[in-house]
Amino acid sequence: MTQFASLLILRDLPQYYTYAIPTDYAIGDHVTLSFGKTEAIGLIIALTPRPRGPYKIKSCHEKNTKLPRLPRDLVDLICWFSAYYLVSPYISYMTIIGSRSWVSEATLSPPVTPIDDYTLTPEQQQACDALLSGPQEQLLFGITGSGKTELYVHMARHYLALKKSILVLLPEINLTPQIQAYFMARFDSVVTLHSGLTPKQRNQAWRYAYETQPCIIIGPRSAIFSPVHALGLIIIDESHDQSYKQDTTPLYHVHTVARKRCELTQARLIHGTATPDITLYHRLKAATVRLNHRLHATPLPRFTCIDTTETPDIISPYLAQRLDETIQAGNKSMILLNRRGYAPYISCKFCNRPHCCEGCSLSYTYHQDRSFRCHRCLIQKPVTHRCTHCGKNGLYAKGIGIQKLALVLKTAFPNACIMRLDRDTGRTFSQQSKILASFRESGDILIGTQMIAKGHHIDRVTLVGILGIETVLNSPHFRCAEQAYQLITQVAGRAGRGRITGEVILQTSQPDHYAIESALAYDYEQLYTIECESRQCLIYPPFCTLIRILVYSETADLALGHLTQCFTHLQATLTDIPISDPLPAPLEKNQNYYRYHCLIKVPESARDRTCTALRSLPKCPKSVRRLLDLEPVTII
Ligand code: ADP
Ligand code: ZN
Repeated sequence: MTQFASLLILRDLPQYYTYAIPTDYAIGDHVTLSFGKTEAIGLIIALTPRPRGPYKIKSCHEKNTKLPRLPRDLVDLICWFSAYYLVSPYISYMTIIGSRSWVSEATLSPPVTPIDDYTLTPEQQQACDALLSGPQEQLLFGITGSGKTELYVHMARHYLALKKSILVLLPEINLTPQIQAYFMARFDSVVTLHSGLTPKQRNQAWRYAYETQPCIIIGPRSAIFSPVHALGLIIIDESHDQSYKQDTTPLYHVHTVARKRCELTQARLIHGTATPDITLYHRLKAATVRLNHRLHATPLPRFTCIDTTETPDIISPYLAQRLDETIQAGNKSMILLNRRGYAPYISCKFCNRPHCCEGCSLSYTYHQDRSFRCHRCLIQKPVTHRCTHCGKNGLYAKGIGIQKLALVLKTAFPNACIMRLDRDTGRTFSQQSKILASFRESGDILIGTQMIAKGHHIDRVTLVGILGIETVLNSPHFRCAEQAYQLITQVAGRAGRGRITGEVILQTSQPDHYAIESALAYDYEQLYTIECESRQCLIYPPFCTLIRILVYSETADLALGHLTQCFTHLQATLTDIPISDPLPAPLEKNQNYYRYHCLIKVPESARDRTCTALRSLPKCPKSVRRLLDLEPVTII
């Protein structure tokens, strides 16, 4: 007996194919088949009625048992992903499933000393009840240190009892151990995925997720594709984090994929954060559950703002005094400066022009090892004084990078134990863990880029300094105010998580910017209101679906030419939709590619129509590349 099925062939082809299959094969099975003159693997994505027409339908050869039958919702997710993000079914398959070999054994992580769940505080209990009985997708808006993780544990327990699996998504790899340990100490069937795993370990984790029901999967972005059966709950922790957006093709966003997966499985979706994304909050305002108190009744840290136009020191006298007092008291401090290297700008004192990387339109950064480095393409050159524009020996380094800050602090506090965490000192996961562990153990001051802002819970940190937030505030991008607010609030949240109230000292040249004022007052509603007013005016998300077309080429004219062609095509098809003129991208040149972009501001109701127009864009010439970003979170 045969039936007919639509197959996704594991080759880069634009469509699905119909084949005859035996009746005991099902959706999600992999089969081997002949395709043209060769053998290929196909995935059964749907059963179809007997096709009409005179042509002969081919039969597949046999079931491929090296690959397991995929859960039904993942099959549907693959098809949806391909249509939604305008990528071929195969790219979609590779993104969601990847190359799998059915390794022999799923290993479980080593046993740990078990810890009992805490009894929830009345506020936590109320939030937990609301989350378990409310709408399918909700926002858990809880201030830092309010015990969101413990809530996740209680919710997970609820779903495990129902024999349903749980996905816990985390933004950053260096956060995984903490939450991982938290969950491991409380549950048996936990598996973690992270970039530190070998391909074999990853396959084992994948098999564990597939075979263990119910289970808890903890991991970054890609864990959203875990092959669990009977999904009950997805938790997106630190939901505002940028790393939930994939930054290489296909450019998907975890929020969107998670929503779809929950729609397909009827699972619950919870976004946990202290600083919600403006667009998300706009959508989920009516489905928001709040935690307004820190545990141990410790109040949120108090802010002091130092205006650097009046007090220009790298470390203001007040910050210096508080650092000293904190060390004397045996407590710890953290200082955020989101600038790697020693000095972030090189320019010429004669002609005033910046000394930029030839491949990228970005100033070199001076590093302490006497190198000029481009933070885009990672090119590294020995220091020179000679200006490429005027030829004179006028180059000098200016601005303050984190290496210079370290030097200033070491001079001011020669006996303190000062540590630095950034991409240079913490390149790998284990380097990052080591720095954090030794800071916890014996450090006095930890300085770092935004890497230190994320989720760390270090009891004795009572003081946080924030420097150079202007670089975030003034980036050429509609979400810059929101990002500055998030960064300030997140890093401030590292202070005073134990029993002593923390203090945050913010040094800035723009103390009256609304993002800073709102952050200092812990007034998210104020930020939200002002942001919404301006975004409504300028038609940015949440008041449109933003789509970005980025075209780049080593020849500027070719890139601009092709983008203009696309622009003309879209203008003719989408007459009622605003499309910005083709312009150089804010980062005009990157790794030798000239970059141009245009933005389409699509009303929610016109997304499908716009995607249809995008599918028929003129063909991209060989020497040009085109990127469609259907939900940009940055437009650099
Ligand atoms: P958040 O994720 O909201 O920043 P955490 O979940 O890290 O906060 O909680 C802060 C600390 O409080 C953690 O050490 C956690 O173990 C502890 N905690 C959470 N809930 C309770 C509770 N109900 N009783 C006692 N301690 C708790
Ligand atoms: Zn470069």
